[in-house]
Amino acid sequence: MPEIHEITTNRILNPTSINLGEYVINPYVGCEFACLYCYVRSNKVTGKRKDPWGDYVDIRINTPGLLEREILEKCPKTVLLGSTTECFQPVEREFQLTRKILEILNKHGVSYIILTRSPAIVDYTPLLNQGFCKKIYFTVNHFNDTFKEVLEPKSPAFSDRNKAVCVLLDAGISVIPYYSPVIPGVTDTRAVFSPFAKAERIEFEYLNFNLKNTRDIIKNISRVCPDRGMHIVRMFTEKGHYEQTWDNLDEEIEMQARVANKKYTIYRHPFGEFFRNFYFL
Ligand code: SF4
Repeated sequence: MPEIHEITTNRILNPTSINLGEYVINPYVGCEFACLYCYVRSNKVTGKRKDPWGDYVDIRINTPGLLEREILEKCPKTVLLGSTTECFQPVEREFQLTRKILEILNKHGVSYIILTRSPAIVDYTPLLNQGFCKKIYFTVNHFNDTFKEVLEPKSPAFSDRNKAVCVLLDAGISVIPYYSPVIPGVTDTRAVFSPFAKAERIEFEYLNFNLKNTRDIIKNISRVCPDRGMHIVRMFTEKGHYEQTWDNLDEEIEMQARVANKKYTIYRHPFGEFFRNFYFL
């Protein structure tokens, strides 16, 4: 169990350069899922905390009242939920902040986009179906059990995530299954479209080698599978190997998309450039 602290915050609608909304809303600080590759674990604020990422969740307990006020002041058109936390992580069951946020956004007619990997979002379907949820980017992935244990041991099972995506799609909610991070030799890319027959499009983000914690990712993969680790180290150091590996994967995904008749987008980070993630800039 993470350590839980109730805190108050001065601002809940935070301006953002992420091109998915004018403001972000993060009702929690920290995340119980503790993914090793999470870009938040080493950002300016969380990187300075003593307790390890995943061991704490701060509850921004004054979120609902603040949001009501800030909506009237700032008149947002579209907001993004969950840019630095998981809004539907287990603590939400007790604190229900995300539920209150959705009720308030619906009441004021503010559109929203959600980033999640939690099947618990399915319980919010009646709120998501009121016309203001524009899109959900639902992070799926396929790692075998060994790699899941290394990369995201506390996150929900991939099979439960796939099921949740399908339930939301069946309910008429716009969901993009989002494979991220795609790690060569670690992500199982053999059947990426088949779990999501109703999805209009699927997106893929290849591993960003310029994240601060990429070395930890490689180290931990090497620990359980030295060959894969070596392959990834070569990508890290040899531009030709880096490009060739991703080119091969591009081809594999394109071929599967053709067979499945699906649209898709791939985000590939240029070799050697600093972190310029399309969403999280
Ligand atoms: S679920 Fe999202 S916010 Fe939570 S640790 Fe994983 S990547 Fe980070």
